[in-house]
Amino acid sequence: MTSGRARTDPVQDVVIVGGGATGLAAAHALAREQARVTLLEAQPQVGGNLRTLRDGPWQIEQGPNTVIMKPPLYALLAELDLLDEARVADPASRKRFVALAGRPVALPSNIANAVTNPLLGWRGWSGILREPFVRRSTAADESLADFVQRRLGRRVLDRLVDPFVSGVYAGDPARLLARAAMPRLVALEQAYGSLIRGGLMRLLPGRAKSTPAVPRAWRGRLLSFDGGLQRLAERLQSAITAQRHADIVCECRIERIERTSDGIWQLTDATGRRWAARRLVLSVPAHVAASLLAPIDTTLAEALSEIVYPPVSIVALGFRQADIAHPLDGFGLLLPRAEGRETLGTLFPSSLFPGRAPPGHHLLNVFLGGRQSPDTARGDDAQQVARATTDLRDLLGIAGPPVWQRVVRWPQAIPQYEIGHLERLARIDAALTAHEGLSLAGNWRDGIAVGDCLENGRQLGEALAAAMRSRGRAP
Ligand SMILES: Cc1cc2nc3c(=O)[nH]c(=O)nc-3n(C[C@H](O)[C@H](O)[C@H](O)COP(=O)(O)OP(=O)(O)OC[C@H]3O[C@@H](n4cnc5c(N)ncnc54)[C@H](O)[C@@H]3O)c2cc1C
Repeated sequence: MTSGRARTDPVQDVVIVGGGATGLAAAHALAREQARVTLLEAQPQVGGNLRTLRDGPWQIEQGPNTVIMKPPLYALLAELDLLDEARVADPASRKRFVALAGRPVALPSNIANAVTNPLLGWRGWSGILREPFVRRSTAADESLADFVQRRLGRRVLDRLVDPFVSGVYAGDPARLLARAAMPRLVALEQAYGSLIRGGLMRLLPGRAKSTPAVPRAWRGRLLSFDGGLQRLAERLQSAITAQRHADIVCECRIERIERTSDGIWQLTDATGRRWAARRLVLSVPAHVAASLLAPIDTTLAEALSEIVYPPVSIVALGFRQADIAHPLDGFGLLLPRAEGRETLGTLFPSSLFPGRAPPGHHLLNVFLGGRQSPDTARGDDAQQVARATTDLRDLLGIAGPPVWQRVVRWPQAIPQYEIGHLERLARIDAALTAHEGLSLAGNWRDGIAVGDCLENGRQLGEALAAAMRSRGRAP
């Protein structure tokens, strides 16, 4: 979507650079408040990581596959009139597999099968039973691996947390900062002295967090749309551009940012087009913000450029159902590093939602790369497919060749909240105070989940609209 309006308006209230979940949600909140806002996006379409690809009967997510239904997302979907189109993942998705000695083992779903589950074994259980007696730590920069090993033991770290962290962050628990990557776990330790005690206390009557805004059938469920998650970005786009003072310009890669002596932010894109605004939001990856801000503030740029984004590639493969021994009755299969495999894990998208594969077939998304094995995300498509099919053959008993394939590459995929992250964010926030009218947002702070990005973007947009109102300027 392009429009000439932005070029004829001399100075916008707000210009947002980056039309992923964060930027779209911020623009939507501002547009709803009648602010004059322009969103500039480098790609031909908005959505950022939210990218769905349709190829005949196959439909794959190139980025996130599902979002978790929480109250802010429910409110947004209701406002966008999207609840009717939302699809809750098949209940089988609650089942998750972890590889153990080359075989998929379902994670325990209740206490009875947890006792006999081979993933935990007696060593896992001895760590869990000891947990309520482990003392609190005061170390502010404890890694996630140290935190989990200290509280729950090595077995839980290796067999449960390591594969989970690969699945969510494509990260390394020994480098991730516990307080930033899993703040809720650390908060339980701090509040109750124990994760188990804290978890049980929260189940007591009156203690459970009430979420009245979300009907029970939706609460905490994973969801997508028939047209994939890109539908959410498209709907936000149409809601934004439906507002008279709001505009979205795609294929607009901002390359230069300057601030005039009277405090106006001026932006120039790769083709020389220019925009001006009183307030500027950069909702781009941290390394992009770093290079845009380097000529203005080296301290800010340096802190932003320290945030690591390892590469990830996704090998999407279609197989005939008859060629797959495993029933694929779950969300996917995660691989602990100790299994010595080249892939991080595999999602079963066609088991979650209809319309992802033709009848009699299955779609599998295999993840490679990440912080612990970045090299496996590199190499040509044939190498990537070979790595993926080897692991699928061994772990899921897939006999025949893929009947459809696609390799998606993210050279800089997911920001890592590593040791030093919170101190880095504090440095960024301190440096920002010297730049009136500049806001930085995105998944490199305050949560990487799509739902977190949407909510953080909304809050930023509303805060900017309120600040403008209090200064007596439109909206
Ligand atoms: C492979 C993968 C799988 C994931 N799976 C899940 C999942 O299942 N569930 C989940 O909740 N989350 C998942 N995530 C995380 C989630 O998708 C992201 O954290 C979130 O979508 C990021 O949104 P954002 O707006 O902060 O950033 P982005 O989506 O990165 O948006 C930034 C935007 O800025 C634009 N841009 C960059 N430079 C410029 C420039 N110079 N000028 C103009 N525009 C520019 C980009 O084109 C992009 O559109 C996944 C992420 C990846 C990569």
